[in-house]
Amino acid sequence: MSKATTKAASNAAQKPAPGSVAKRPFYITTTLPYVNAEPHVGHALEFIRADVIARYKKLMGFDVFFNTGTDEHGVKVYQKAVQAHVDPQKYVDDAAAKFKELLPILGISSDIKFTRTTDPHHIMAAQAFWKMADKNGLIYKKNYAIKYCNGCELEKTESELVDGKCPLHALQEIEIIEEENYFFRFSLYQKPLMDLYERGSASTSNAENQNSFVIPNSRLNEIRAFVERGIEDFSVTRLSSKMPWGIPVPGDTTHVMYVWFDALVNYISTIGWPDDEQSFGKWWKETGGAVQYCGKDNLRQQSAMWQAMLMAVGLTPSKVIVVNGFVTGAGGVKMSKSLGNTVSPIDVINEFGTDAFRYFVTKELHPFEDSPFTIEKFKETYNAGLANGLGNLTSRIMKMAQDNIQYPISNVQENENGAVMDKFASIQNPEFFGAIDSFNLQKAMNVIWEKIAVLDQRIQKEQPFALVKTDKEKGTTLISELVAALGEVAVMLQPFLPETAHKISTCIRENKMPAAPLFVRK
Ligand SMILES: [Zn+2]
Repeated sequence: MSKATTKAASNAAQKPAPGSVAKRPFYITTTLPYVNAEPHVGHALEFIRADVIARYKKLMGFDVFFNTGTDEHGVKVYQKAVQAHVDPQKYVDDAAAKFKELLPILGISSDIKFTRTTDPHHIMAAQAFWKMADKNGLIYKKNYAIKYCNGCELEKTESELVDGKCPLHALQEIEIIEEENYFFRFSLYQKPLMDLYERGSASTSNAENQNSFVIPNSRLNEIRAFVERGIEDFSVTRLSSKMPWGIPVPGDTTHVMYVWFDALVNYISTIGWPDDEQSFGKWWKETGGAVQYCGKDNLRQQSAMWQAMLMAVGLTPSKVIVVNGFVTGAGGVKMSKSLGNTVSPIDVINEFGTDAFRYFVTKELHPFEDSPFTIEKFKETYNAGLANGLGNLTSRIMKMAQDNIQYPISNVQENENGAVMDKFASIQNPEFFGAIDSFNLQKAMNVIWEKIAVLDQRIQKEQPFALVKTDKEKGTTLISELVAALGEVAVMLQPFLPETAHKISTCIRENKMPAAPLFVRK
């Protein structure tokens, strides 16, 4: 069997059986951004990439649960609220609203669930989770002194520090914390975690990143090496006298839960754990767990600490962890306000539009490694790929169709949500599906833009606008073929650029050129 056939077969296997009543469930989540910072381009990237996968799975006939939200407890939020002389709850309400407002601006699916760690149900779930882990003997109290980086919100071992400072937060002092705290017996999980990394995941079906529990493979190797070196129990509480803004430890109000036993539990509290067994059964057990997008700074928390915590309460691990690189300034320099190289997603979208932003994030930024995001580069690729590329192609083909063809020749059907459901799954393109299935959205977008390039070349070479004047039949046949091929481009674009896909399929259905260019040259 050829590689392509294998891919096509596994792709077909993901579709629900014909005639089946219940759709297969699929669960995807972003990390919950911590509300002490404004929403930035890194958040936008994670939301958009997860949204592409959520839309893709829906188009493939899955029933999709898509989760995001905000992480709202902790000392940094508390300090900011105190500095601003506002009640912490008021502070987090305002901060959460900013993230919530960003979602429609980014074109994120409107059925996304927005979980806040201050939601009463989440607080109940975090406490239930704690009680179970405690009952299983996996939480204990001890005195300790740790080196702690407030920037990372992580304890640091001596070997991780450079000149006594965190290399990621060299401007901040390492804090020495000495107090009585509760600890989680993480050290017990070295072997189970190594087994998990070895076993891999059934969710990826093609050669690239095959069966990797963490994607890309380089990150799997990184976490495997970390766990292999030996892991230590980590602290899971703070004294409420020092940090009153947190979820109280059940049975001991002198402590609040630290971020791990609070925020990470959202991945299951959002789907109804522990009280809604039916919902949890569907979205965790039937799906094989969550597909979790995160940034590379979250690798340890997502793929080791959280997995051990799930084991501690007898739950199965997540399905797969997909790790994004950082968005940087020009030349790979870290984005920072002081350097003036930050990019506001909202400003960019105000000027270029939502789909242009989604295009840049999925096609131009590296799918897994760090990538620079500059306005110059954005504008350049916008003009090349969208204004002069897809937008111009649509205008040219649809102008010829409008002038020379009497009826719409490709009847692109849409369902009530504006999606071309039946058409999507029938696309014959194993490379395209293989790329999305392995979360390489850039590669999938390149497949689409290769098709666009082929259409451009065909128009240039075969000159349908001239041909239709000398040989009407041959000319209209050629134009019809171009329209049909453009229709397929629109279908494939749906998870990535939903608004543009809709505009193009509307033009085809009405046999009209767009009233205005899809993307105005900048
Ligand atoms: Zn740090």
